[in-house]
Amino acid sequence: MVVEPKVKGFICTTAHPAGCEESVRRQIAYCKEKGQVDGPKKVLVIGASTGYGLGSRIAVTYAYGADTIGVSFEKEAKGKRTATAGWYNTKAFEKFAAEDGYYAKSFNGDGFSREMKDQVIETIRKDWGKADMVVYSMAAPRRTMPDGTAVSSVLKTVGKEFTNKTIDLKTNEVKEVTVPVADEEEIQNTIKVMGGEDWSDWIHALAEADVLADNASTIAYSYIGPVVTHAIYKDGSIGQAKKHLYETSRKLTEELADRGLKAYVSVNKALVTQSSAAIPIVPLYISLLYKIMKEEGLHEGCIEQMYRLFADKFVKKEVDEAGYFRLDDWELQDKVQDKITAVWDQVTTENIQELGDIDGYWEDFYQMFGFHYDNVDYSADVEI
Ligand code: NAD
Repeated sequence: MVVEPKVKGFICTTAHPAGCEESVRRQIAYCKEKGQVDGPKKVLVIGASTGYGLGSRIAVTYAYGADTIGVSFEKEAKGKRTATAGWYNTKAFEKFAAEDGYYAKSFNGDGFSREMKDQVIETIRKDWGKADMVVYSMAAPRRTMPDGTAVSSVLKTVGKEFTNKTIDLKTNEVKEVTVPVADEEEIQNTIKVMGGEDWSDWIHALAEADVLADNASTIAYSYIGPVVTHAIYKDGSIGQAKKHLYETSRKLTEELADRGLKAYVSVNKALVTQSSAAIPIVPLYISLLYKIMKEEGLHEGCIEQMYRLFADKFVKKEVDEAGYFRLDDWELQDKVQDKITAVWDQVTTENIQELGDIDGYWEDFYQMFGFHYDNVDYSADVEI
C-alpha cells in the first residue's frame, strides 16, 4: 500500500513504516558516531516508542551498551489503517538492536495497569534478574485508575484565564487564544495522569518484587520554559502535575534510601512531539525557538537531548541546586530568550515564515510520523 500523510490539526492519522524505520536508524547513527561511555546496563523505559522515551531507549542502548525493556501504548495496523508511528518505531528499534547484538523486548499495553507492571516484573526476573535504571517518559491524555474509573488530564491555566498568541496548526495563522481555567477536579485529575503517582507505583512494584538493583537510578521528564509559556505550562494544570512529579522524585529517593535508589527529574527542551503539539501557545513558541537556536548553532532534537543527558549530565550527576538535570540550559540562555521576547509581540500570520521556523516545525511534525525523509521512496508500496 502507498501511505500518505493525513494531517488533522495537531495529529497525523497515518504513519509510514519505512519512514519510521529511517527516523530510528538516524537516531541510532547519531549515537554510534558519538560513542560509548560507562553506565547502567539493564534499563526499563516506560513510554519508549516516541519522543523523549524513544530517544532515551536509543541513547542508553548505544551510549551505555544497555539492554532495554520498553513499554508503550500503540496501535497495530488494521485493514487499510496503518499502525501508529510508535508501533513502527518500536519494531524498527528491535530490529536494529538485534542486529547490533542488544537485548530489546517491548510490551504494548496500558503502562498504568497492574497487569503491565506484573508482566514487566516477570520478564526482568526471568531475563535479567534486576534492572539498574528506570526511565519514566509516559505522556498520556488519560489514565484508568486501579479501581477501573478513568480520569483525564487538561491543558488549562490555574487561577485566571490567559490570553496570548498561538498558531493555528490547521492554517498556520497566528491568532489569539484564551486558555480557560481548570477547576479543582481537573487539576487533581491532571496530577493523577501526568504527576508522579504511577511512576512511584512502578518503582515500588519493582522494589517489592526485588527486581530493582541496589543503587539503581530512575528518571522522569519535565518542562519549565520561559515566562511567556508559564501560565499554560509551568503554572498551569500540567505544571501542577510536574510539581507532583518533582515531589515524587524526592520521596522515592527517601523511601528507597536503604537500597540506594536515586530518583531524578530531567527538565528537557521544548520540542515537537505528539504531546507538545496539543498544548496551546507552545507550537508558536517552538517555531520561534527553533529559528533562533538553529541560527545560534544550539538546536537539538530528542536524540541529541537524550544522548547529552545520558552520556554527559547523568554520568557526571550534573544537577542544579534543586536537583534537576537541566537539558533546557541552552533553550533558556539569555541570548536565546532575549531574541524570542523581542519578536514575540511582532509575530503575525504575515511574518511567521520570516520570524519563526514554521517550516522546521512542520518538518519535525511530518518526520514524527515517518514522512518527509529525502531517502525514503514514498511512491513505493509498503507492507503496513
Ligand atoms: P510522546 O507523546 O512522544 O511519548 C509518550 C509515550 O508514552 C509514548 O511512548 C506512548 O506510547 C506512551 N504512552 C502513552 N500512554 C501510555 C499508556 N497508557 N501506557 C503505556 N505507554 C503510554 O511524548 P514526549 O513529548 O516524549 O513526552 C515524554 C515526557 O517528556 C513527558 O513527561 C513530557 O512532559 C516530557 N517533556 C516533553 C517535552 C516536549 O517538548 N515534548 C519537553 C520537556 C519534557
